[in-house]
This record gives sequence, C-alpha cells and structure tokens, in this order.
Amino acid sequence: MRVVVTGAAGFIGSHVVDAFSGAGHEVLAVDAPERSLSPGVARRTWARVATRPGVVAAELDLAADDLTAVSAADVVVHLAGRPGVRDSWGPGKAVVERDNVAATRRLLAACVQRPPRLRPKVVVASSSSVYGSAGPRPNREDDPLKPASPYAVSKAKAERLARTAAGSGLRTVLLRYFSVYGPRQRPDMAFHRFVEAALDGRPLPVFGDGRSSRSFTHVRDVVAATLAAAAEDLAPGVAVNVGHAEHVAVRDAIAMLTGALGVPAQIRRETPVAGDATRTWADTSRARELLGWTAATDLAEGLADQIAWHRGLRTVPEGAAVG
Ligand code: NAD
Repeated sequence: MRVVVTGAAGFIGSHVVDAFSGAGHEVLAVDAPERSLSPGVARRTWARVATRPGVVAAELDLAADDLTAVSAADVVVHLAGRPGVRDSWGPGKAVVERDNVAATRRLLAACVQRPPRLRPKVVVASSSSVYGSAGPRPNREDDPLKPASPYAVSKAKAERLARTAAGSGLRTVLLRYFSVYGPRQRPDMAFHRFVEAALDGRPLPVFGDGRSSRSFTHVRDVVAATLAAAAEDLAPGVAVNVGHAEHVAVRDAIAMLTGALGVPAQIRRETPVAGDATRTWADTSRARELLGWTAATDLAEGLADQIAWHRGLRTVPEGAAVG
C-alpha cells in the first residue's frame, strides 16, 4: 500500500510511520515546516522518521500548500493538528481553527477531487474531548457531543467535515483517541511533565486536585487501532473510540509513576485548565466489534515504558535521532 501519514514528526504520527514502514508499506511522511513539538524533540524525531526504509519525508503545510501528492495514496492517516486544550484558548483559537479545521477541510477536498476509483481511504484523528466530561458510564460513540474548549470544538468540526466528505463518496473513519501516553509523548502532556520533573527532583506540576480521571491509552495500542482502522472495511464516516476501557485518577497514576521511579510523590498544584474534562472514559464495544481491538497495555507496564524513554533521552547527544 501507499500510505500518507500527516503529523509524522509528532508523537502518534512518528509511531504510525514506524508501524506502516515496518510492515513493508510505502510511506509519505508529512509534517509542517514549522513544527509544534519542542524544537529538540521534534527535530530528533523527524530525523529518525525521515531515515526509515521505505519512507519519503515531505515538509508541507496542510493549511496552505498544494496537496496533490498527499491525496495520491491508498490510505491517508491524518494526524496533523494542534492538540491540547490549554493552548487552544486566547490566540491559540485561531491556530487550532487553521491547523485542525482548515487543514482538514483542504485535505479532504483534495481527496474528494480525485477520480472515484483513485480516492484514498482517510483515517482522521479525533479526540475524546468532543464528549466533554464522561458521566457515570463510559462514553459511547452515539452520545451527544459537548465540546468544552476551542480545541474540542475544532475536533468536532473536523469530524463533521469528515462525515460530509463521506457523503461525497470518501471512505473516512474518525478515531476518537483518549489521553495517549508512552515513548515520545508531547512535552506539554501530563506524564511527560511528571516524569521530567521527577527525574530533575522537582515537584510534579498537577492541574487541579488530581482527582480527575482518564482512559489513559498506550501509544502502542493506539497504533494497533489505527492500522486496523486503515485495513478494515468500515461504513464511511463512522466514529470509533480508541481508549482504554478503564479510567484512572491522575493522583493514582502519579502514585504508580513515583513508585516506579522510587521518588516521593511531591506535587505542585496548578490552576485547573478551563474546558479540561474531569473524567474521560471510553466505551470500547464498537472498537472491539469493528476493529477487533482492545487496549492491551495496563498503566503500570505502559508507564515503565515511558519512563525508560525519558531516561534514554537524557543519554542521547543533542541533535542525534532518537527512538
Ligand atoms: P503532535 O503535536 O505530537 O503531532 C501533530 C503534528 O502535526 C506536529 O508534528 C505538527 O507539526 C503537525 N502539524 C500541525 N499543523 C500542521 C499543518 N498545518 N500541516 C502539517 N503538519 C501540521 O500531536 P499528537 O499528540 O501526536 O496528536 C496527533 C493527533 O491526534 C492530533 O490530531 C491530536 O489532536 C490527536 N489526538 C491526540 C491525543 C493525545 O493524547 N496525544 C488525544 C486525542 C487526539
């Protein structure tokens, strides 16, 4: 297969490129000329992605550049965007509108414009944030959407665009990812901040009181679900939750993490982020039924993986490609 992965220098995208190229597919890895990760990590991840066998790397802005090459594929996995609730407020709103909504609109339009037999299947990254906070039961895909931040609204808009494109004959799939963690996690995300603080001997910066909970999902499982969604014959425009069936409180995750590191659980409380869900909780029935997928990695095992990656980062010379 010829596969295009957008957001390929990013956390999830770089793993998806690894998986497709490892399975022998031809991959066009696309990311923006100006990347959103911290420069050190992004540059090193991109260097690694670009040198994988069977991978051609292209720096393209999906919101501005010509997308003919991006639409010429069997499958497009669209992971590019500006993630994160916190940065989407204020001036961030225009950025998420551009890179999550306008970029997705342009990408889908380029795919729809191809002759019907040559149109790729498009797997679009959505987010659990479209649900708002979960109630006393896990969120199912047909629950009403209650996006509570500009980021969540941008993801709900991208979903709508992908469903509309499905109506125009494009095979789209919407994957609602739930709090992804593991090696190469973005520096703004909770576990990345926690592990780096703990390794530096600083208190862990926690937004709120640590009682909010998440369906934390390991990136290895997210990649498996994404590849299954690319391979399976699914109803165009279908949404699927990609999340761990259990939700864990942030303070319990911190206890696990500091226990694994052998450091005291010292915390510095920060003001909660407006629009952040108090609970995310994935109903996994549809993913099981349509993709034959459930998240297999438990949190203790997955955190050990992420900790090992952070330790490894500290031993890699600046500028070198990282795993
Ligand atoms: P990331 O920031 O690590 O990767 C996103 C990449 O997209 C970046 O490298 C960035 O440079 C690129 N990008 C942004 N705008 C672009 C543009 N206009 N043109 C080309 N490239 C552009 O993010 P991630 O954590 O890997 O998330 C990947 C996708 O999954 C995002 O769409 C995000 O909203 C979604 N998602 C992530 C999580 C999570 O927990 N990480 C949860 C739910 C949904």
